[in-house]
Amino acid sequence: MEDCLFCKIAKGDIPSKKVYEDEDLLAFYDIDPQGPVHFLVIPKQHIGSCAEIDESNSAIVAKCFEVIAKCTKELGLESFRVVSNTGLQAGQSVNHLHFHVIGGRDMTWPPGD
Ligand code: AMP
Ligand code: ZN
Repeated sequence: MEDCLFCKIAKGDIPSKKVYEDEDLLAFYDIDPQGPVHFLVIPKQHIGSCAEIDESNSAIVAKCFEVIAKCTKELGLESFRVVSNTGLQAGQSVNHLHFHVIGGRDMTWPPGD
């Protein structure tokens, strides 16, 4: 999708620090890390958010979670949090589905601001 930051990162038009890449997915470090480890996993195809997941694209979402398990293992993270902010009120700032993977520090529950 034109004018989508993460579509541009997925295509390589905007550089990123990659953790993992294949034909369907990209994992890259967040530019504003919220912990010692913070990377994002995105499908290369444009899906706006969790609210747009349906049976036509859910296989790619399953693959995102396979990649999360693989990358966290490789990074030696036994404990981590996966977050997907969906919609304005939840703090979504980039309208392309992404899973934050954050680890390496203590975390509180429920999540706050
Ligand atoms: P959200 O606010 O949940 O939609 O998450 C968007 C995330 O993208 C934020 O954590 C930003 O720090 C991150 N971000 C924005 N631009 C870039 C970029 N060029 N490279 C890596 N991460 C980015
Ligand atoms: Zn996009």
